[in-house]
Amino acid sequence: MQKITILGATGSIGASTLSVIAQNSNDFSVYALAANSNVEKLYQLCLEWQPEYAAMADKSAAFQLEKKLALVNSTTSVLAGTEGLCEISSASSVDMVMAAIVGASGLLPTMSAVKAGKRILLANKESLVMSGQFFIDAAKEYGAQILPVDSEHNAIFQCLSQTVQTDLGYCDLKENGVESILLTGSGGPFRYTDISTLSQVTPEMAIAHPNWSMGPKISVDSATMMNKGLEFIEAKWLFNAKQEQLKVLIHPQSVIHSMVQYVDGSVIAQLGEPDMCTPIALSMSYPDRIPSGVQPLDFTKIADLTFLAPDLSRYPCLKLAMEACYIGQHATTAINAANEVSVEAFLEHKLKFTDIAIINDRVMSKVCGLSTLNTESLESLLELDRIARIYAEELVAERT
Ligand code: NAD
Ligand code: MG
Repeated sequence: MQKITILGATGSIGASTLSVIAQNSNDFSVYALAANSNVEKLYQLCLEWQPEYAAMADKSAAFQLEKKLALVNSTTSVLAGTEGLCEISSASSVDMVMAAIVGASGLLPTMSAVKAGKRILLANKESLVMSGQFFIDAAKEYGAQILPVDSEHNAIFQCLSQTVQTDLGYCDLKENGVESILLTGSGGPFRYTDISTLSQVTPEMAIAHPNWSMGPKISVDSATMMNKGLEFIEAKWLFNAKQEQLKVLIHPQSVIHSMVQYVDGSVIAQLGEPDMCTPIALSMSYPDRIPSGVQPLDFTKIADLTFLAPDLSRYPCLKLAMEACYIGQHATTAINAANEVSVEAFLEHKLKFTDIAIINDRVMSKVCGLSTLNTESLESLLELDRIARIYAEELVAERT
């Protein structure tokens, strides 16, 4: 029996992870569930799954959860704050940790699991974007195994040889016959929208993704294609890819989840229904396979598979993130932090959709222009993240 801690249990990936566990209950059990502040939802999950621990980042929420669970004589112990999240990620009886907190807040609890040498089911791309080399190096140093959950990276992982799969972050793609990685994306809901009308896009329009059902932040990121930009950076770190080895391709149907092009002309793709239960199941069972509850693709119902190059004038956030990727760690930490602030402000109706890219751009330029830049430690990256958020908040305030 493999014991799992789920960070971000009340979110979209959390729900899909629990659904895969429910279908494989002889092999996997829930050790701990963690969330930010949604007491009622985590309470319901605790009643249903009876984990040994529940943890909430928000301390007053943790206190309320503890009171509610005591009233029903629950055996689940409650922990609070980042320390609590780190504790359930590194506990000796845990085999694997689903890292599905949204945003940079996922970094410390995920890193705690890495340092305890766990198997990391990595959905939280932002933590890798903001800490890149540190994350990859820590996984090697502490013997943690990273399994990509993001559907594109999970697809790429499946299209690579075992030599690469077992040496993530360090493998030499060229030595393994890889010509390039083709990172596919649907292009989001505004692929065909007149660019001059994008400033009128509302949060409701932006989070209605045509193919995938996801949390609000990643849905907005998909609409701006910042998500593909973050994934570009994520792919660089996971697969040790050089700039010329990474390409973004728009594939509106989301049937192919990414591809690997080899030097001999072969292209290997992974296909499936757009349902996160597939990559989650593989991350839990690798190198074996388990049922995920996802229906097999019915090829007779697929009319077309089409592809086009991304128009970077439509997706300025994608352009910025791809540039940041090869500028350096300070640029990716800054753009990730700026984007979290600008997306939240957009969701709160404080910014226009098109302001997201403007703010991300200004913050990245400002951080890149700093005369002293320290990216030598995780603490200095957290400090850079904090500074970038302050710049972004100032720019949001100017616009509201
Ligand atoms: P979501 O908004 O549905 O859920 C987010 C979860 O994170 C919630 O459980 C919330 O309680 C928790 N959380 C938020 N802030 C927190 C904090 N400060 N401390 C602790 N917990 C906190 O998001 P989601 O769609 O499930 O995405 C989660 C992560 O997975 C993101 O990094 C996203 O990029 C990645 N991802 C999601 C999908 C998808 O299909 N949803 C696909 C690929 C990657
Ligand atoms: Mg993805």
